[in-house]
Amino acid sequence: MTEGQIIEGRGGLYTVCDAEQNTYVLRAKKKFRREKISPLVGDRICFTPGTISDEHGWIDEILPRTSAFVRPAVANVTMMAVVVAPQPAPDLLMVDRLLVQCRRQHIKTVLTVNKQDLDTALYERLKAEYAGADTAVCAVSAATGAGLNDFRQVILHETICLCGQSGVGKSTLTNALLDVSAETGDISPRIRRGRNTTRHAELFRSQDYHLMDTPGFSLITLSDEKTDPLTLQDDYPEFVPFKDSCRFQPCWHQGEPGCAVIAAVKEGRIDRERYTRYVALLKELNEAWRNRYD
Ligand code: GDP
Ligand code: ZN
Repeated sequence: MTEGQIIEGRGGLYTVCDAEQNTYVLRAKKKFRREKISPLVGDRICFTPGTISDEHGWIDEILPRTSAFVRPAVANVTMMAVVVAPQPAPDLLMVDRLLVQCRRQHIKTVLTVNKQDLDTALYERLKAEYAGADTAVCAVSAATGAGLNDFRQVILHETICLCGQSGVGKSTLTNALLDVSAETGDISPRIRRGRNTTRHAELFRSQDYHLMDTPGFSLITLSDEKTDPLTLQDDYPEFVPFKDSCRFQPCWHQGEPGCAVIAAVKEGRIDRERYTRYVALLKELNEAWRNRYD
């Protein structure tokens, strides 16, 4: 059996790349359907290559995933680039939701502020706002190429996926990242991405980084998840130094007397905007939690 990684999946056929950059077209063994497991783009697998008489080979085994998303259906992403821009106006509640989702899967994040050629104020604002949020913040312009070299250093050796609102420049940024790698000649031959909108997830692998090209997406909302609202605070790194000092334990940090998190917000030690959106997300989660048996 050989090991490889799924770089594309379409109509039950999976394109798999091995360590020597050879590609194979494979089908998944029936046992996966019985076990209700779908192979995902990004999956590392063991497979039996096809023979001449039996044109497709078979995926025999899916190796353990480090992370997985339903929409888009991708596995083993190690870093998520959450893309925002001055235009369209950023939806930071959505950004925070994405950061929480990623933290829960131990995926690193880079808040990527695109369209620097239009405006640099948003980057300055978000750098301050997210200073305690354990995320990298990068300024780029996919159109002019500004900031892309620094960005490439941040994503070095990661398997990255771009997400964010439509119109922020994910597609333009993807093309910029792929084109430059093509120039250095270190990416697989299937590099040139069509101009058409992506319909399927596809993984591009270069020596420097692996890039998941996915249909524009904004990930699942937290309310799909029905997680215990009390655990939301665990995904706010900036609360950590304070939350054990709250008078009540557990504390939701919503207005309880003696809440050390709220005190820190008042003293400017926790960003007020991030805190306000925490309360909004908490409300969302509470609603979903109350209706969790519906
Ligand atoms: P997506 O929906 O997130 O994939 O966004 P697109 O890549 O389709 O970009 C949306 C629009 O923003 C297009 O008109 C792009 O030309 C434009 N755009 C993308 N990046 C930049 C940038 O860095 N600066 C400027 N000024 N426009 C950009
Ligand atoms: Zn508290």
